[in-house]
Amino acid sequence: MMKILPIEQNQSTNLFIQAPYQKEKIFLSSPHMTGNEMKYINEAFDTNWIAPIGPNVDKFEAELAAYTGAAAGAALSSGTAAIHLALHLLGVGKGDRVFCSSLTFVASANPILYEGAEPVFIDAEEQTWNMSPAALRKAFVASAEEGKLPKAVIVVNLYGQSAQMDELLEICNEYGVPIIEDAAESLGSLYKGRSSGTLGKFGIYSFNGNKIITASSGGMLISNDAQALVKARFLASQAKDPAPYYKHHEVGYNYRMSNILAGVGRAQLEAIEDRVNARRAIYARYAEAFKDIEAIEFQPELEDTRSNRWLSAFTLNTDITALTPENIKRALETEEIESRNIWNPLHQQELFKDAPFYKDGDGEAVSEKIFRCGLCLPSGSNMTAAQQNRVIRVIKNLFNN
Ligand SMILES: *Cc1c(COP(=O)(O)O)cnc(C)c1O
Repeated sequence: MMKILPIEQNQSTNLFIQAPYQKEKIFLSSPHMTGNEMKYINEAFDTNWIAPIGPNVDKFEAELAAYTGAAAGAALSSGTAAIHLALHLLGVGKGDRVFCSSLTFVASANPILYEGAEPVFIDAEEQTWNMSPAALRKAFVASAEEGKLPKAVIVVNLYGQSAQMDELLEICNEYGVPIIEDAAESLGSLYKGRSSGTLGKFGIYSFNGNKIITASSGGMLISNDAQALVKARFLASQAKDPAPYYKHHEVGYNYRMSNILAGVGRAQLEAIEDRVNARRAIYARYAEAFKDIEAIEFQPELEDTRSNRWLSAFTLNTDITALTPENIKRALETEEIESRNIWNPLHQQELFKDAPFYKDGDGEAVSEKIFRCGLCLPSGSNMTAAQQNRVIRVIKNLFNN
């Protein structure tokens, strides 16, 4: 029979947990459970709703709609799927044009390609790091001259900060083009008292593992057009027509959220305000700790908005420091601390090399500058003060030497 060693004699376990040179890893943003997740998962098991349909899915949709103030929500397998369905519902198809923020994760724009449409990328501005109204205006003027307006505009709320929605909406309304708000990173954020994600025709949230709340994976499409969401749920379940046999008249997708994962999402949503407060407190501690380091400029919070501060992100003023984001990232890495570059603007990606791009101003694109000078710090709501102090010490040491 195999002899099981007591744990203290198990060398590999000991090495990992106790060796003094093995520092505890600090992650950028790791899942933070509330303790209620198993309750809803067990409900799913007890009632045998182990399917992409069931009470947790219905309740998660209703609870998220209530929290954000949207008329309704459709729970989906991912935020990317939600963007895809939003484009589909707006009739975006082959050869159509779609405007999209450039400074974002590739998932914001991939669904444009799924539909065979053509992305046009819009630069960022300095006040929120999101879509520049000036650049959006230029793109619309050029498109109108060509006689080919976009079918939709995808506006991203980066790292939890809302874009200048009033200005963007005014331009889009002038041309009669709907906005899809990519609020994957901004659940819990506010724009002039309204929930981030509810200002456009459609909004999308993501519950991927590193987002402010997670269902391990998943997404939600929200809208004040409840009828459009009925259509979204239909498309997300293989577009099965109501009939006593299998009947289909249009293409569908397998995009519904699992009833088990919706249970995780429900428990997580109960804690959203706590999570926002925790991330904002983490940001506030960074801001306080680095207030004397002039070269560090955090992502601004626009007046009359509340960012959930999903990630505390800053740019380095390279006019006054010789340090680069890469220097900081490497120093943190040595101490087992994860940090991340800002999203690499999509207009710079090989994948989108043929896509037009409109800049905010005349010099270096704002999105390129934020990418070149920026960094995201560990911001998880479950990070302890001691852990955050480790992050702060490493960065302060770099600037003091
Ligand atoms: C995470 C994210 C997405 C994609 O969400 P998934 O649920 O991972 O598909 C889309 N846009 C942005 C800006 C994101 O950060």
